[in-house]
Amino acid sequence: MKKIAIYPGSFDPITNGHIDIIKRAANIFDKVIVLISHNPSKSPTFAIGREALTKEALKDLGNVSVDLWDGLLVDYVRKVEACAIIKGLRAVTDFEYEFQMALTNKALYDGAETVFLTASTENMYLSSSMVKQIARFSGDVSQFVPECVETELKELYKLCQH
Ligand code: ADP
Repeated sequence: MKKIAIYPGSFDPITNGHIDIIKRAANIFDKVIVLISHNPSKSPTFAIGREALTKEALKDLGNVSVDLWDGLLVDYVRKVEACAIIKGLRAVTDFEYEFQMALTNKALYDGAETVFLTASTENMYLSSSMVKQIARFSGDVSQFVPECVETELKELYKLCQH
């Protein structure tokens, strides 16, 4: 049976930090599903274009697909018969929350095993919100995001400035 892993997040937008985790997970599992999930406490900047942009950024990775989900993560995990939920850990500050989430998901569905991958040192500080702040002030984000995301960010903040 194929080993499927789910990598959930906001991906608003996808960064090189996310892509690093996805590539490493794709080397471990047969298939990785990047799951763009609805977070009720955040309103997304890329509300409409996120799925297309994430797909474009990952188009060269053969065993990676992208999906959208508005419901409980464990319901998706059960639906596709995944064996793992992937989480990237940047710092100790990520851990407390992710640990709580992992235990909660396990309590809701025993098949929901969370696998933590540590961020690479060069991506430790990288977050979608940081990238958006730099782009908003016309800073260079080319080392933090794929080209398609850089283009979209430029477009977005150019429109905002007019
Ligand atoms: P953010 O926390 O930046 O808003 P997401 O909600 O999209 O990002 O995060 C999805 C997953 O990716 C989480 O497990 C998060 O810890 C992880 N992640 C985000 N940025 C990085 C990074 N630079 N390196 C490793 N993992 C990351």
